[in-house]
Amino acid sequence: MSTSSVALSILTEEEREFQQVVQQFMNSHVRPIVAEMERAGQPPQELLRLMGEQGILGCFAPEEYGGGGGSLMTRAIVAEETARVDAGLDATLFVNLSLVARHLIKRGTEEQKKKYLAPLIAGEASMSICLTESHGGSNALSPRTTARRVGDEWVIDGSKTFITNAPIATMFMVFARTSGEDRRARGGTCFLVDRDTPGLTVGKPFDKLSLRSSPTAEVFFDSVRVSADQVLGEVDNGFYYMLEGLDLERVFEGASNTGITQACLDLAVEYSSEREVFGQPLSTFQLTQDKIARMATGVEMSRVMFYHLIRAIERGEEVTRAAAVLKLYSSEVAVEASREVVQILGGYGLMEEYPAARLYRDAKHHEIGAGTSEIQKLIIARETYKAAGRGRG
Ligand SMILES: Cc1cc2nc3c(=O)[nH]c(=O)nc-3n(C[C@H](O)[C@H](O)[C@H](O)COP(=O)(O)OP(=O)(O)OC[C@H]3O[C@@H](n4cnc5c(N)ncnc54)[C@H](O)[C@@H]3O)c2cc1C
Repeated sequence: MSTSSVALSILTEEEREFQQVVQQFMNSHVRPIVAEMERAGQPPQELLRLMGEQGILGCFAPEEYGGGGGSLMTRAIVAEETARVDAGLDATLFVNLSLVARHLIKRGTEEQKKKYLAPLIAGEASMSICLTESHGGSNALSPRTTARRVGDEWVIDGSKTFITNAPIATMFMVFARTSGEDRRARGGTCFLVDRDTPGLTVGKPFDKLSLRSSPTAEVFFDSVRVSADQVLGEVDNGFYYMLEGLDLERVFEGASNTGITQACLDLAVEYSSEREVFGQPLSTFQLTQDKIARMATGVEMSRVMFYHLIRAIERGEEVTRAAAVLKLYSSEVAVEASREVVQILGGYGLMEEYPAARLYRDAKHHEIGAGTSEIQKLIIARETYKAAGRGRG
């Protein structure tokens, strides 16, 4: 089903054409293998390679590293269309492209870009970003993972949890404290650690409710030694890089949530038009129409806002409050839509042979991952007081 939305007017002609190419790719190459990917717990490497060849992975990246040199919007289009078909694959790509590749493009040295960015864009490798620790992910500026300088090298000790792509990653972008006080942004450094570095080990993949086609695991660092040229950007400034990327991450989360909500709507419309109960299609009952109307409203509002915010970021505008509003709103809309699509399918909604059950499992992730709903509310309230001149620092 193609997208019919007032938001499409925000896209350029080229971006709309790209969106159709991505939709066709997802329907012919991804949709048929979603169940298989969920069973395997990871996407097949050949699929990522094919996406690389077709220019879907590197659409937004500079041409000299194999990218397409397109707008940031092209990356958001890929996120929405991937999540519409499989939110797990979208999670793997979110980390590879929206996080790791974007940090490399912004801060990487020429050597780092050649070594890591090119294989990501070609679909030859997956990588991880390691921030969350077992004592609490919401408090991201308090890692217990440390790195100390010994001669020409850095020695990293600690562990990270819930790390997307860890079971398949060839490189780990690791945030560790190198100086400064707990809960301060100054004093964090980002290291690029190759998988085969002695002392780095990866736990067993987690068996999880959501995003089952995206592998997640713990990562342990036991006196892991890396050279100074494996630092991303400057020593002690890594947490600033992480913080400055958060608004964009939340907008990309909005793209993923829009994709999931659209998938719920697609399925709800199709099923309710065909299923007859009491001798008439479900779609003729006004209680069904209420569900459809609420889903359609949610998807439209989420999409208009995320397209609009991508454009604002492209213009270099500050979007902190709006990005948190989008992440909070679009994840709530996706969770509600997924609950309602299960309801519309009745007993079949609970059967794994229909996508409703998977959508229900996957939507929930987005109220937790990349900053929980509670954290988004704290940001929205803080920024609202600040805008009213009543900021409390
Ligand atoms: C499938 C999956 C993939 C992930 N991938 C990655 C990854 O690739 N890299 C990475 O670094 N992390 C990753 N994460 C971690 C994710 O970002 C964290 O789970 C998230 O930030 C929440 O941290 P936490 O789970 O430790 O919860 P906690 O921080 O322990 O929070 C627990 C509860 O307390 C609430 N809470 C916390 N602080 C406050 C407060 N001040 N006021 C009110 N309520 C509060 C939270 O909202 C939440 O409801 C992933 C998580 C999942 C589930």
